[in-house]
Amino acid sequence: MQASTQKAPIYLDNHATTRADPRVVEAMLPFFLDEYGNAASSSHRFGWAAADAVDRAREQVAAALGVEPGGIVFTSGATESNNLALKGLARGSSGAGRTHLITAASEHRAVLDPMKRLAREGFDLTIVGCDGEGLVDPDRVAAAITDKTLMVSVMTANNEVGAINPIAEIGRICRARGVFVHTDAAQAVGKIPVVDLVNHVDLLSLSAHKLYGPKGIGALYVNRQRGMKLLPLFDGGGHERGLRSGTLPVPLVVGLGAAVAIADRERPAEAEQILILRERLKTALERLIPATQVNGPAANRLPGNLNMSFQDVDGSALLMTLRDLAVSSGSACSSTEPEPSHVLMAMGLDEETARASLRFGLGRFTTADEVDRAAQAVAIAVAALREHSIAWPGRG
Ligand SMILES: *Cc1c(COP(=O)(O)O)cnc(C)c1O
Repeated sequence: MQASTQKAPIYLDNHATTRADPRVVEAMLPFFLDEYGNAASSSHRFGWAAADAVDRAREQVAAALGVEPGGIVFTSGATESNNLALKGLARGSSGAGRTHLITAASEHRAVLDPMKRLAREGFDLTIVGCDGEGLVDPDRVAAAITDKTLMVSVMTANNEVGAINPIAEIGRICRARGVFVHTDAAQAVGKIPVVDLVNHVDLLSLSAHKLYGPKGIGALYVNRQRGMKLLPLFDGGGHERGLRSGTLPVPLVVGLGAAVAIADRERPAEAEQILILRERLKTALERLIPATQVNGPAANRLPGNLNMSFQDVDGSALLMTLRDLAVSSGSACSSTEPEPSHVLMAMGLDEETARASLRFGLGRFTTADEVDRAAQAVAIAVAALREHSIAWPGRG
């Protein structure tokens, strides 16, 4: 190993965000510098070029989902898509007598918080639990549905433990009861096949920066056959069929389209390669470190996700020690909070084990060498922290 690469930082935080693929950046550049028109300017060629690029990106996103391009609404990311789906449908449907909403305890805050706001506005909210692996049981969802239920929101894949939920089954149950289904697929699109599940949902959120695209752009798929009335989050020029006013960020839209198209094409081979590296990391950590535990499902798991607890070690202390390794304890959005991960707690872990956990997120650019160095770095850090821990019985 070369001395110069010895200290190069290692990025294993691909659930928080991903490096933009150079091919994506390449595709975006002309739309900053040459084709900089407003896609809504219909009277000149600058506008036409921008509108053509937006059309193409919309087709790319729709093709990867297996839906009509007219159902794709560009937003600023999955947070906005979730807010538009949940608040838009709930507020747009009020008066129809359906005032009950259902979601799951393992959801991202970008679903839980809009749902809680809707509850403060007067909707009834049921938060169903997940199982010990972080999976949402369709039977629990079915049992929570009443004749007042408007909508169910369950994420496709969990951002902390990689659990892939049975969305098609949940969708079938909801459809049979006349309940709309939203899924936050920010961690799923480009990582696992989604075409089959899209047939069973009415609304789906995705984000470009989770799939090697730019930050600040995402999409909401709206199934237009289902007659949902969505209230926009804000008013303005009436872009995106009135659902999302505001000038489209054409370079970002182009980047989203390119990122989705690349992921769609390369996903099978890439997922296989990432899974091999994930298993290599897991094996190395288990071999080098005693008293570990893998959190999350054995099967039905995102290929790039590993979540592991290290007994008697504080996750945030571990993170501080691992200066050159980018990993996360809990989700990135909540790692400034002292609270342990709400997902691990919902899975039934005790607080100490939840706090002793790290999330590793492998991605397109992860190498075997990085995985090996990461495992060694974690092993050294855990051993050092345990050396000072009163609780650890192996201490000398
Ligand atoms: C990252 C993420 C989000 C937020 O996406 P943004 O595009 O950053 O707003 C929402 N849900 C899940 C599951 C995520 O992983």
